[in-house]
Amino acid sequence: MEDVDIAIIGAGCCGATTAYRLSELIDSNSLKVVVFDASKKSGGWMNDAKFNMPLESQLNAGIAPEIGLYQKESISPQQWFEHMQYALDLLGKFAPKYESGDPKIQYHPANPDSVSKLESIVRKHGARLTEADIYHLGNEGGRAFTINLYKHLKETAGIDMRTKTRVKKIDLGDKKIITYVDPDSGLIKQVRSRHLVLAPGRDGVDLVHQVVADHNIKANYHPAQLGYRLETKKELYPVTDILYDPKIYLEGNVRTFCTNPGGFVQREKNARTCNGSANRDYKSENTNVALIVSMNSPYKQMNNHDFGTEFINAILKVGQGRLVAQRVGDFMDMAGYEYEDKSENISVRPTMNSRHFVWGDLWTDPSVFVAKRIANALIQLNGIVGEQTVLNPDNILYGPEIKNCLLHVGTDRNYQVMGQPGFYCGGDGVGTSRGINGAMAIGKIIADSISYSFMKMPKP
Ligand SMILES: Cc1cc2nc3c(=O)[nH]c(=O)nc-3n(C[C@H](O)[C@H](O)[C@H](O)COP(=O)(O)OP(=O)(O)OC[C@H]3O[C@@H](n4cnc5c(N)ncnc54)[C@H](O)[C@@H]3O)c2cc1C
Repeated sequence: MEDVDIAIIGAGCCGATTAYRLSELIDSNSLKVVVFDASKKSGGWMNDAKFNMPLESQLNAGIAPEIGLYQKESISPQQWFEHMQYALDLLGKFAPKYESGDPKIQYHPANPDSVSKLESIVRKHGARLTEADIYHLGNEGGRAFTINLYKHLKETAGIDMRTKTRVKKIDLGDKKIITYVDPDSGLIKQVRSRHLVLAPGRDGVDLVHQVVADHNIKANYHPAQLGYRLETKKELYPVTDILYDPKIYLEGNVRTFCTNPGGFVQREKNARTCNGSANRDYKSENTNVALIVSMNSPYKQMNNHDFGTEFINAILKVGQGRLVAQRVGDFMDMAGYEYEDKSENISVRPTMNSRHFVWGDLWTDPSVFVAKRIANALIQLNGIVGEQTVLNPDNILYGPEIKNCLLHVGTDRNYQVMGQPGFYCGGDGVGTSRGINGAMAIGKIIADSISYSFMKMPKP
């Protein structure tokens, strides 16, 4: 069996950052580092790549819970901020460049004066606002970044990048056995590694569930993060002129986030959920934003993960396998099923490809638990943004949208799994992050920790 020193599953925001950081810290000519990824070039930078840089003041005050689920009990805000800064610098290093050599990243700083006005309006309506500076690569920039980073890892850093290679199974022990499908021969092969980093993102939940069950690993469920995506005309959501991606915490544990001014609503790779993104240059006339409810399963016999799956399945059933869109007017009136194609007749033109959705009713059981809260949140948000903005009847809600992978694997401060020395878990797929910034920061922390266990060898 092939032996390696460090194996990483997932070349996304977490795993590829681990690989990059390792290449800075250890001599990859004497240690064998292998990275597996099921796709050719993948990971969360491929879409939108909006990097939320939390404001230090908010971090210090402990009021920025969405900045990557950092482990408050084991790391100071200042340390976390430094890991984030490292991630941001990495973004700049491999982003496409202008002729001047500056990275093609659009910077949307939070404007303190206008933000404080918005904050007081939000507060007046019983909600809470968190701020972040946004660095935006956009879809085109994100793809170019990924290509540049992978090229560097492979050709300069000496990392064995095995793309199009899906890992099927993991066995833990002193040495970790990784069973994968060889993309050329289709044969099942195995690698044995001293260190293993599991960072398979949201697409890799099955693998996470397998290893947790097989090895009795301590894990618990985060609340389910379920909701819809709202699409409106850009001028009807002017708060993005103040903050590119305003995160507003509304009643009923509903929050807005992942806002894309001039963006597009899209279907995720798994074809079961929607999401949103924006290009850096080519814009639409709309803005889309996620409205997500954080909630525990209302059913005693169903865990949060299964409840999330039920939520998705219920909406896909309405859409007969496709995502469902509903006019906000019909949603608020609970007007029921509307199968006719409304795309031509409404003033907000859907940016989602019409092949991916049907017009239907989002008030379907068990989506109704979510729908009720979103309906109230829309009213509250409309009060904040302005009359006939969010509640413009021709706005569109798309469902389902679901965030996070819920199963949170128990790790120490370095993301090493409890009772499993040498086995690290990071990123969205293991419930330790919720965005590219957190996933990258965690990738760095993991690499730092692994490098301590090898003698630090200076580069030749
Ligand atoms: C359309 C869209 C837009 C988004 N926009 C933003 C944004 O603007 N800002 C933001 O902060 N977040 C955004 N996100 C979320 C962001 O992508 C994730 O939070 C982030 O990618 C998580 O990083 P990760 O390393 O955990 O997983 P990923 O980056 O998803 O990487 C996981 C990798 O593991 C691979 N993998 C999975 N299973 C296996 C297996 N069995 N074997 C081998 N490889 C496997 C996958 O192919 C993937 O490349 C967006 C997500 C989507 C879908």
